[in-house]
Amino acid sequence: MAFRQPALDALPRYPLIIGDTREEKGSGATLAHVYPGTGTVTREITMANADDVDRAVAAARAAAPAWRAMPGDKRRDLFFKLAALFEAKSAEFGPSLIAENGSLAAFANYMGYDAAQKFRYFGGWADKIHGRTIPMWQGEVHDFVNYEPYGVVGVIVPWNGPLFAATMVMAPALAAGNCIVLKAPELAPYSPMKLVELIQEAGFPAGVVNLVTGGPDAGEALVAHPGVDKIEFIGSGATAKKILTSAAQSLKPVGLELGGKSAVIVFDDADLQDAAKRGLSGAVSANGQGCVNGTRLLVQRGVYDAYLQTLSAMAGHIKVGDPMDQATTLGPVISEPAISRILGMVERGITQGGRLVSGGERLGGDHADGFYLPVTILADVAHESEIAQNEVFGPVLAVTPFDTEDEAIALANGTPYGLGAYVHTTNLHRAHYVTRELQAGQIQVNGSGEAMQPNVPFGGWKQSGHGRLGGIEGLHEFMQPKNVYMNVAKLGGGQ
Ligand code: NAD
Repeated sequence: MAFRQPALDALPRYPLIIGDTREEKGSGATLAHVYPGTGTVTREITMANADDVDRAVAAARAAAPAWRAMPGDKRRDLFFKLAALFEAKSAEFGPSLIAENGSLAAFANYMGYDAAQKFRYFGGWADKIHGRTIPMWQGEVHDFVNYEPYGVVGVIVPWNGPLFAATMVMAPALAAGNCIVLKAPELAPYSPMKLVELIQEAGFPAGVVNLVTGGPDAGEALVAHPGVDKIEFIGSGATAKKILTSAAQSLKPVGLELGGKSAVIVFDDADLQDAAKRGLSGAVSANGQGCVNGTRLLVQRGVYDAYLQTLSAMAGHIKVGDPMDQATTLGPVISEPAISRILGMVERGITQGGRLVSGGERLGGDHADGFYLPVTILADVAHESEIAQNEVFGPVLAVTPFDTEDEAIALANGTPYGLGAYVHTTNLHRAHYVTRELQAGQIQVNGSGEAMQPNVPFGGWKQSGHGRLGGIEGLHEFMQPKNVYMNVAKLGGGQ
């Protein structure tokens, strides 16, 4: 049975939204966007170029003084109105999310609720941003700190979860009083378009949020633009290096949320069924293309064979296929080149000593037109091998045995990344010891995705980035402290 197409006529039409104007075309190159589920073109999109970025930044700058001055209670009310709109129209995100990157229908229709949660949480902060006073050691003085917005924040997000990523940045940045220019990713442009349409519909003032859909050139123009006060980038380390190089010219601050090679440590006292189910989610969540997926399974030797057996038996029940089918549990990867890249890494993983336990080949038959890979498990992977050290970004798990707690910690910490880590144990002392020693921004004990709430600081250590999104830390990411000292003795009194 041929796989279905998402409703293409339900896709948003405006790749650029600048001020209060929705534009059907940018002035840059035209890209034929491909639906990964069937390999067919969804629409030709004429993207933004540097001139369009310039216009978007000008609109944001024009809106910035009034947005910054808007009282917190008004901003809060606007956020709550937007959150209600996200909930009411959550299903409208469905076609966009499915079409842009093959997200599963089983989740896509509910992503509006996730966006709503973020705007409710940060809307709650909007009327609670206040400074503090600092007692000074001299006489009659008054010293206080205010937290102020940067001005215009340029937001660059990846294709694997553009709605999730954009709202993760925009909710705190807007709550803090910044205006936004969002660059939607060329490979997954539709949910950001829908997002900004709904922001307009909620009544945000024109220019507070602007959208440019485009490729690396639009991103470069945004980073280099003198009218942008801060960049928040979510994407790969390779692009982050280019962005930092560019931003170095103006010393512009840059927040980075990058990739990972997050370890899943399974101790011999763990609930193996649960640890296998959660371990498998590293290959399945976001079609194996999640930044914080646990893709490196470190398993204590005493339970190694039993765990592998359970894991591969469970992998056999994963239904790979049509994202439109509610029963599907693993959809396509993003593109044809991604298939070649992932299979190349698997092949080299085997050459470097890994043992193929399941998967390893592209799916044919009904799956042949789309970009489908089965869950692929490589066992006995050497810690130094490429597939244990580098992000695959596909439904691939690398499994390595260990003997002691300290060996597990050393292996888990032994990559350049530090985004997530997962620990499976029933021993409380062990849970505390191991989490204390792990070098990662987000650690879950007997969990897999539950910590991704808007009130939790999320971000990486080491080459997984710096800065935090979520929680009060996420709000402070988009505010600058301003300290004011007043020598009161020299100030004239009122009449
Ligand atoms: P990417 O770095 O190729 O692209 C990310 C964005 O940067 C896209 O919008 C792209 O158009 C833009 N871009 C490309 N070159 C640019 C340049 N020179 N200047 C400015 N912008 C430029 O990453 P990707 O392939 O889209 O996304 C996958 C990566 O993102 C993975 O490494 C993944 O782990 C990471 N990621 C991290 C998080 C997180 O929160 N830590 C979340 C999602 C994805």
